[in-house]
Amino acid sequence: MNGLERLRTRLDEAGVGALALAPSDNLRHAAGFAPVADERACVLLLTPRATAFVVPELNADQTAAALPGLPILRWSDHEGPAAALAAAVASLGEPPDTLAVDPEMRAETLLALLAAVPGARPVDGGPLIRPVREIKAEDEIAAIRRSGATADAAVGAAVAACRPGATELEVAAAVQAEFSAQGAEEVVFVTVASGPNGAFPHYAAGTRELAAGDAVVIDIGGRLDGYASDITRMVHVGEPDARYREVHDIVERAVVAALAAARPGATCGDVDAAARGVIADAGYGPQFLHRTGHGLGLSTHEPPWIMAGDATVLRAGMVFSIEPGIYLDGDFGVRREEIVALRDDGPEIVSGLPRDLQVVPA
Ligand code: ZN
Ligand code: ZN
Repeated sequence: MNGLERLRTRLDEAGVGALALAPSDNLRHAAGFAPVADERACVLLLTPRATAFVVPELNADQTAAALPGLPILRWSDHEGPAAALAAAVASLGEPPDTLAVDPEMRAETLLALLAAVPGARPVDGGPLIRPVREIKAEDEIAAIRRSGATADAAVGAAVAACRPGATELEVAAAVQAEFSAQGAEEVVFVTVASGPNGAFPHYAAGTRELAAGDAVVIDIGGRLDGYASDITRMVHVGEPDARYREVHDIVERAVVAALAAARPGATCGDVDAAARGVIADAGYGPQFLHRTGHGLGLSTHEPPWIMAGDATVLRAGMVFSIEPGIYLDGDFGVRREEIVALRDDGPEIVSGLPRDLQVVPA
């Protein structure tokens, strides 16, 4: 219950009456367990002094076993959640005037909840939760490293599957199989973006066949013991031409500059500026379409956000990505991504893989 106690303290400090958590990574982080998230209303209500957990009947026994001692209010499919939500609010004592809400809560659940607390003003619970999740404990960093090792192995499987005539989906299947072989409980996303598809930063994978001369963006992430992985590496089918080499090297210099800028006391904006400066100086500023990175933990994307102008001060224990890219519409894209754990003396790279271009035979 340690995580829940920390949230209570945050509520007290912020003068917020109550926090409502959904089955989300926020709840998993705070309580160590979250019931299945679906359309059924499931809400953990927390005040500085009281707790009430509204849980759909079919998940209630499992939740009680995982979180003994929490007062659970059950509701069944044919009853609907309104009575349980009202009883939960009544059990808190005085109705809260401000209700901080888990940003991952479904809108239909939030609307049902607000109907049960008509006087409460809903506010974004994200800022309340953020400091509790942003600085990782050593056991969390160790879990992220173990999860990262499964992604490293899956990158190896992707490289091995890249050959002329293989489809992006076939390469993606090799990634999924390797994640499973490594014990990952979930494959969260697989991007295998060959040739011109690489110019779309969030392309997934399709039926395009790899061909000689293709640059291939491999960006993959899974989950092990609850913690996310996320890595990007580049493969080239056959020897790359001079233009590809040039763009590849610019991105590498941007990664190195961002790693050098990532120090406790620097801001997220400083790290972004380091990467963006290299790419802009090389003439590709407009082709760097996204922020430099994002935090990673239980969620693949979570604070801090490594983006232009973000004044968040980096602290030891933060874990985030550095992933600059250059996207040349209709031609190819280049990105590399490292997850780093920030230490007092700088970033510790989670992956054990080099960032060198992997050239496979054409
Ligand atoms: Zn990422
Ligand atoms: Zn990624």
